[in-house]
Amino acid sequence: MTDKYAVIGNPIAHSKSPLIHKMFAEQTGQDIGYEAIEAPLDGFAATVERLRKEGHKGCNVTVPFKFEAFKIATQPTERAQVAQAVNTLKFDGDTILGDNTDGAGLVRDIEHNLGVQLRHKRVLLIGAGGAAYGAALPILQIGARLALMNRTREKADQFAIYLGKLGHVVDIYDFPNEADRKQFDLIINATSSGLSDEMPPLPTDIFAQGALAYDMMYGRETPFLKFARKQGAAVVADGLGMLVEQAAEAFFIWRGVRPDTAPVLARLREAA
Ligand code: NDP
Repeated sequence: MTDKYAVIGNPIAHSKSPLIHKMFAEQTGQDIGYEAIEAPLDGFAATVERLRKEGHKGCNVTVPFKFEAFKIATQPTERAQVAQAVNTLKFDGDTILGDNTDGAGLVRDIEHNLGVQLRHKRVLLIGAGGAAYGAALPILQIGARLALMNRTREKADQFAIYLGKLGHVVDIYDFPNEADRKQFDLIINATSSGLSDEMPPLPTDIFAQGALAYDMMYGRETPFLKFARKQGAAVVADGLGMLVEQAAEAFFIWRGVRPDTAPVLARLREAA
């Protein structure tokens, strides 16, 4: 019998996850079905319950339900607990395993697909929402030096305190404060500023030699990526690779098989 999975979000119509998981299933010979489900804004938990009753084996969770998904997980992984957000649920009897594969997907895209090693690198992570929380721990665990920046400064402070309690020392980057004119080897835009064709304020000399600029958004050339190109960032990347890598990690959690992401990413890039 075909095992059923889904991605739940609102809106969800443009999700690439069904296509990605279909390609993973074909490639690995796994017999799964995967659909996109739009849950009402006040109906996430009820939607998950319905899927469980219907025999689904798990689901992915996207905006705006990742925090709610963390709350309904009866068994959250460490990385989900740190992120306080879940993008992958696995149903096993009464147990709901909750994991967050976003950060691992980001790190794998940067190190494996883009060939940039993070250890000892100076990383600026912009944003203090769910995506930034998910990314911070995997970046720190790999041995990078992390600085945080956010439009609402208090949220960056809270984020730094939170990571401090977990034993990680991070800086706050406070541009346009003159004292903060540092350079970074990797700058990650984990804000949704690109959606409104905006970017966080940054100085022109912020990219160190050979620097990578990474925008978690995909599907459009964001002002941040345009700025990075103009300022001479050596590598400029959108979040499509992260999307495919976090999906592969979820697929592995569900099926115990790791798909080859390269052909899937290549197909998506061709279609874009
Ligand atoms: P949240 O809504 O949780 O966080 C939004 C963040 O963006 C906040 O830090 C907010 O700052 C900041 N922000 C919003 N607008 C602006 C702006 N105009 N200028 C500066 N900062 C701004 O979103 P998520 O963390 O869930 O997602 C962030 C982005 O990451 C989205 O674009 C999402 O698509 C992408 N993403 C990509 C993934 C992938 O697989 N490629 C996976 C997950 C997310 P403030 O605190 O001041 O409001």
